[in-house]
Amino acid sequence: MKYLGSSRYSSIYCDTHIHTRLCGHALGEMEEYVLASLKRGLMHIVFLEHMEEGIITPKTSWLSEKDFDYYFEEGRRLQEKYRDKIEIGLGVECGYNPDCKDVLLERINSRNWDLIGISCHFQKIEGDQYHFNLLSKNPDTLKRAVQLDTAALFSKYLDTLLEAIDVINGSMLCHLDAPFRWLPSHTLSNHHYQKIDHLLGRAAAKNLALEINTSGIAIRNEAFPNKRILEMASKHQMTFQLGSDAHKPEDVGNHFKLFS
Ligand SMILES: [Zn+2]
Ligand SMILES: [Zn+2]
Repeated sequence: MKYLGSSRYSSIYCDTHIHTRLCGHALGEMEEYVLASLKRGLMHIVFLEHMEEGIITPKTSWLSEKDFDYYFEEGRRLQEKYRDKIEIGLGVECGYNPDCKDVLLERINSRNWDLIGISCHFQKIEGDQYHFNLLSKNPDTLKRAVQLDTAALFSKYLDTLLEAIDVINGSMLCHLDAPFRWLPSHTLSNHHYQKIDHLLGRAAAKNLALEINTSGIAIRNEAFPNKRILEMASKHQMTFQLGSDAHKPEDVGNHFKLFS
């Protein structure tokens, strides 16, 4: 296992990033993901559902606290039902918003998560009605993206993550270079890589794992983050964890064999 470190999640039989229909933009019940994972031969999965706070968009793409109540109730039922077949974790992908850090912290601290993923999906753009979704492939979002200074926005995104890992006691840094993934003109500069190196150093010091998010392979033939970043993370002796970022049951454990 070339890339994988030594944490309990570091295995090609463990998928640490799975969504469900609860977030509003994925398909399938939690149990359907468990059944698909068994079919794929996974031994350990972690649901990592979306939490966002203070984000203004036309449609929500995350769970409410009521949804999270159901998530834990159903998750506990499934843990029990499948306990002899697969280990099931209940985690959260916390989208960081610096404007709402106190509420986010309160929400994170109020539940017993098996894994806390840190990401940042949205940014506030001065003058825009809605927050800008950095990961969207919606044609209107992409049209807006080409009008923006994406290099500056990516730098701001990295600064936001740097703050996030200080504020939130997370366990994994998610899909690090995924923003603007649907924008072919977007590339990372040396300045970005310097910032990433600094971020990885801080993340390593905080014992965060780096996610190898295999959803990138279908999009750009390479996981998120790219090889250069994975090598930088290796130098910081970070642990790696595989996540499919499945938004449909059949996508669990996708491409994990590439990392065996
Ligand atoms: Zn999602
Ligand atoms: Zn995400």
